[in-house]
Amino acid sequence: MSQVRVRFAPSPTGYLHIGGLRTALYNYLLARQTGGTFILRIEDTDRTRFVADAEDDILATLKWAGLDVDEGPEAGGECGPYRQSERSALYLRHASELVDSGAAYYAFDTPEELDAMRERLKSPQDPSPRYDCHTRGNMRNSLTLSPDDVATLLATGTPHVVRLLVEPGKTISFVDAVRDQVSFASEVVDDQILVKSDGMPTYHLANVVDDHYMSITHVIRGEEWLSSTPKHILLYEALGWTAPTMAHLPLILSPTGGKLSKRAAERQGIPVLVKQYQDAGYEPEALVNYLALLGWNPGDDREIFDLAGLVEVFSLERVGSAGVQFDLEKLAWFNGQHLRRLPVANLAERTATALASTGIEVDAAYVTEMVGLMQERVAFASELATTTGYFFSDPMSYDENGVKKRWKDDSAELVVAYAATLEAGIEDTPEAFEQALRQLTETREVGAGRLIHPARLAVSGVTMGPGLFEMMALLGSETCARRLRRAAQVLG
Ligand code: GLU
Repeated sequence: MSQVRVRFAPSPTGYLHIGGLRTALYNYLLARQTGGTFILRIEDTDRTRFVADAEDDILATLKWAGLDVDEGPEAGGECGPYRQSERSALYLRHASELVDSGAAYYAFDTPEELDAMRERLKSPQDPSPRYDCHTRGNMRNSLTLSPDDVATLLATGTPHVVRLLVEPGKTISFVDAVRDQVSFASEVVDDQILVKSDGMPTYHLANVVDDHYMSITHVIRGEEWLSSTPKHILLYEALGWTAPTMAHLPLILSPTGGKLSKRAAERQGIPVLVKQYQDAGYEPEALVNYLALLGWNPGDDREIFDLAGLVEVFSLERVGSAGVQFDLEKLAWFNGQHLRRLPVANLAERTATALASTGIEVDAAYVTEMVGLMQERVAFASELATTTGYFFSDPMSYDENGVKKRWKDDSAELVVAYAATLEAGIEDTPEAFEQALRQLTETREVGAGRLIHPARLAVSGVTMGPGLFEMMALLGSETCARRLRRAAQVLG
């Protein structure tokens, strides 16, 4: 096989959404696995939906996710420019060629004439008739008008579009790497506009021309483009080019079923923009891992992959065609899993910054140790700064349910005795704190739990957290003793 060349071809009509990132990821994985090339192409021919900072967001998001681009608007490359708005002349040249060869035609119908046609022909079976083999014979185009009339209309600058001529009675087939053989009857394919009346090419024409000139070997994109593919196949045929291998990724479904549209997602509180996941504190590794499995599986029950691991095992053959349900809880779980795998230093630095922004300045070594204790216990890195207040100041209150359940009649007396042992002098190691506690409870002939739970409440104010003795060793005996005595006083 020739060198794999794949492209991610977003339209800059908004910020990158999770479905887009998944498409980019699958393209990237195939490129890296085969030593091929990953291209970013900005499909900005639709100026009415253009969003000025969308391209910046796309570039930044791909970088955040670790998907480095080999060729693109920023990376450059031999097949540039990589923005379609800068390639118009090329598309228009091929549009004329298609008209000349009879594969496309001019249509002069005004918007009113198009509306009238739809009104006239609509029926319960066909509520929105299209411009196609059934209707074009009754419209104003270069198939129905005389060559002289057409020449005059063009010469006088009459607004017109260029349409693809789709002949009836044909079966348009292609092999999809995800769905195998896919066929469409040409009667259901409309005469797609290739060049709009403003002289701009549509997505369909520009997409096919670019995939050809950029030597794309695989078109990997979302299922929503599947119905456009017969049009593209006809264009490849008409232009005498070989179509790339097609691979349409399964739809992403909402947890309640049905397509995860922007509206459905909003209703169910599911963010759709990658930026929202960044802002909510998801790790890029976790989102990438989760999206990789949203439509693809490794063939066994492995779940945790980093990007390099995905590059190794990914294959288009293992991409399914059935829609896949988005599961925010599962993604949060992946986040926790990837947090555990991050170097402590990385998290410590971020935590120190987050703490500093709330006015808590602490020693770097102390934060690093704290992160070491907590890393396994949080799902989001932000929790390392937001749920760990007791590492930085004495608790001001005590968890009510915890007190009800754990603070017994003898608790105050036990924690005070424990405080006294600590004050008598103790090494700041978990072992020393544990030994002191066990000695005390043995002397009192009570189970260790009788002191462990109240001590935790006294020291942290809450019932959950890292290992008690590790936490106490980090806080130091002086701090612990003070907190134990205070809790005895407050809780009695
Ligand atoms: N510009 C299209 C999009 O926004 C590209 C579809 C394709 O990959 O062909 O997704």
